[in-house]
Amino acid sequence: MKRIALYPGSFDPITYGHLDVITRAARIFDELVVAVAMNEEKKPLFSLPERLAMLHESVAGISNVRVEHFERLLVDYCSRNGIPVVVRGLRAISDFEFEFQMALTNKRLNDSVETIFMMPKESYSFLSSRMIKEIVSMGGPVGSFVPDHVEQMLRTKLYKK
Ligand code: ADP
Repeated sequence: MKRIALYPGSFDPITYGHLDVITRAARIFDELVVAVAMNEEKKPLFSLPERLAMLHESVAGISNVRVEHFERLLVDYCSRNGIPVVVRGLRAISDFEFEFQMALTNKRLNDSVETIFMMPKESYSFLSSRMIKEIVSMGGPVGSFVPDHVEQMLRTKLYKK
């Protein structure tokens, strides 16, 4: 049977930390679906089509990765699409509490969906989309944190504001 997993997130925007998790998970599973959560309450900087476009371009070289989006409950998306595993990234202890709470809540909602955690390469373990947006808005370089096309998008978006 084909082993398939879902990597959900805001990806606002995608960073090398996310890409590191994607690359590692794509080696373990036959197919990895990277799914952008619409979640407008988080007031993302980038629209859904922009986040999807940046993801598409970033994962173009990995043949078993597919990019999708979802609304509402993650576990419902998993059951509808026959996806038994959710992958999340853990950077530091600070991620643990939130991720632990979410994994257990999802388990309560649907016990057949399993959450697994992956750690990125150490050098990406401090990266967050929020920090990158702050650096760009203050005129700093982020070329070592995100792909070039993402840096371009950030500059266009944040300089327009
Ligand atoms: P969310 O809003 O769902 O937390 P994010 O896009 O911020 O969406 O993160 C998606 C997942 O990727 C989360 O599990 C998060 O902990 C993980 N993640 C984010 N940045 C990194 C990173 N630098 N290294 C590893 N995992 C990361």
